[in-house]
Amino acid sequence: MSPPTLAVFKLASCDGCQLTLLDCEDELLGLSGQVEIAHFLEASSAVRPGPYDLTLVEGSVTTPADAERVHEIRAASRHLVTIGACATAGGIQALRDFADVEEFSRTVYARPDYIDTLATSTPVSAHVDVDFELRGCPVDRRQLLEVITAYLAGRKPDIPNNSVCFECKRRGTVCVTVAHGTPCLGPVTHAGCGAICPAYGRGCYGCFGPSGSVNLPALIPVLHRDGMDDRDAERFLHTFNTAAFEKELRR
Ligand code: SF4
Ligand code: SF4
Repeated sequence: MSPPTLAVFKLASCDGCQLTLLDCEDELLGLSGQVEIAHFLEASSAVRPGPYDLTLVEGSVTTPADAERVHEIRAASRHLVTIGACATAGGIQALRDFADVEEFSRTVYARPDYIDTLATSTPVSAHVDVDFELRGCPVDRRQLLEVITAYLAGRKPDIPNNSVCFECKRRGTVCVTVAHGTPCLGPVTHAGCGAICPAYGRGCYGCFGPSGSVNLPALIPVLHRDGMDDRDAERFLHTFNTAAFEKELRR
């Protein structure tokens, strides 16, 4: 019997999540014995057409061409998993959702007339059905391996939907907000990184996006108490997962 096929595709993104997969090194070698890596341009120019058993998609939909391509990818994929803040929330490029994209193009490019872009940056799930969304900017390698392994084994990925606060408690990190009044998005941010930033004495800035049970409006007065004005709080939330946190604020 031929092994299951794995494909990796990229839309608008920085490649950091694909690099996380390449960074798996030893595990990737083990994986390559269990699957046929059929399409992964960051690793090899040898590609074969679908259908694919498991497809990972990095990046957001920002151009008319990507909006079409994502349907082709979906049609060629038995399971489709999106990886990273770009693919699951529109990424930092979704800052355009709250601005004038044509003004951005005129400011950045010498020939904006060459630019063919959409006015928004949207997650893949806004266009096609997605089987699983793995958060993070970039994704965590242990979580990425868990998701791939789970789909190859035919089971549900074991990715808890709780917040970074749970990870601080688990590793015994003293809460930076309670102990030092440091602004922190940990209470509303999806777990997965192992609470790296609070472990080094700084607040979480939300690179994994909203967790499963978010009460973002309740956190805003705490950010104010800890010295942020409205503009600081807005900038704090408008980074890698800007559209996802904005959605939570408007809920
Ligand atoms: S989620 Fe972050 S690391 Fe991944 S592709 Fe987007 S910008 Fe890069
Ligand atoms: S910003 Fe938050 S989610 Fe991102 S690595 Fe730091 S603690 Fe983890």
